[in-house]
Amino acid sequence: MSDDRYSRQSLFAPIGQAGQQRIRASQVVLLGCGALGSTLANALVRAGVGRLTIIDADRLELSNLQRQTLFDEAQAAARAPKAEAARDRLRQINAQVEIVARVERAGPDNIARLVGRPDVVLDATDNFATRYLLNDLCVRDGLPWIYGGCAAAYGVCMPILPHETPCLRCLFPTPPPPEHAPTADTVGILGPIAHAVASLQAAEALKLLSGNRQAVRPVLYTLDLWEGHLASVRLPGPEPDCPCCGAGRYDHLGGCA
Ligand SMILES: [Zn+2]
Repeated sequence: MSDDRYSRQSLFAPIGQAGQQRIRASQVVLLGCGALGSTLANALVRAGVGRLTIIDADRLELSNLQRQTLFDEAQAAARAPKAEAARDRLRQINAQVEIVARVERAGPDNIARLVGRPDVVLDATDNFATRYLLNDLCVRDGLPWIYGGCAAAYGVCMPILPHETPCLRCLFPTPPPPEHAPTADTVGILGPIAHAVASLQAAEALKLLSGNRQAVRPVLYTLDLWEGHLASVRLPGPEPDCPCCGAGRYDHLGGCA
């Protein structure tokens, strides 16, 4: 199969042939394969990353199909593990990409093994406990990661380059209580907000993977597709008093240094 399949992407000047080759050699880890994750996986596999690892312990349900674009009715009826169902579909989309499915739930004891040392980690989780765990791991190990979240019609995205841009705990030192962290299970969700947030995350990832790190800006994107709100808030540098990237305390990992 010819690399011509990427011609429109490499024609985009900031990527070019050199950037495309870097994308083809890259390794990406996707934590979660629901609405954000299935959209991200689709975008990155079509973009031609070298290897994509998908981590998700959940099984498909019919109510996922409204927004999780990789999956179909037969997979939902079979209650297939999302990571494996995504892998099987993605292999049909781009056989050049190595795709690894891990049907496991990330926790303090296994997240370092599950994530490894990729070029970027994409947050497609649906809870802050896992995000804070991921933040600690990525800051400790110097891994770029892209925070993304959405519920109802609202979403956020923030690229995090450890020690270069603010980490999650620079902005929010402690996780919000569950009653202040609505999810698709509590307030519902519009499919398009998940796809919009995942597209922002995918674009940030492609900047990193193609060697355009300088194009990743320290911003918090916020959007509400119902209210017609779109904003990118410029962030200052990392917070010197941050317990994580400032003081090097990785509390959510169990204090592992
Ligand atoms: Zn920080």
